[in-house]
Amino acid sequence: MSDEKTFVSRVAYEHTHPTVLAVYCSDGRFTDAVEDLAQHLGHERIDTLTIPGGPALLNRWVADYLESDVVTRAARFLIEGHHITEVLLLAHAGCGYYNARHGSMGPEFIAEQQLTDLRHAAEELQKAYPGINVHLYFTRPHDTRIHFEPVPLKA
Ligand SMILES: [Zn+2]
Repeated sequence: MSDEKTFVSRVAYEHTHPTVLAVYCSDGRFTDAVEDLAQHLGHERIDTLTIPGGPALLNRWVADYLESDVVTRAARFLIEGHHITEVLLLAHAGCGYYNARHGSMGPEFIAEQQLTDLRHAAEELQKAYPGINVHLYFTRPHDTRIHFEPVPLKA
């Protein structure tokens, strides 16, 4: 039997659900920064849906159908079950998911595809949940800082 003791977090538990959902890539280099962005936007806590590629998986036209279906269902589950009113969709530079799929097409093609995927994902969510607020960001490291560039919903 392990002799490790129970760890008690300094973070207080609040039983109410956050009203914001952030959908982003699992890439841990950006995790803390996404929470920082959310706080900057006035959200102390967020629901998260992280998977390699993030919002790419909400674009049914491009992503693998089964993967996309699972992620779309997960997003709907959170939005409906937790009464989410705002969604942040984030793509990031140097994403391994996109490199694995489109690496041979070059970084400019990939960046375009990421913006297309963000907008498709936003469109799908707004179709399913009229009135929901969706914000898109392209995340990019500059030296030692992480920049979140807002992406307009329409190209
Ligand atoms: Zn990624």
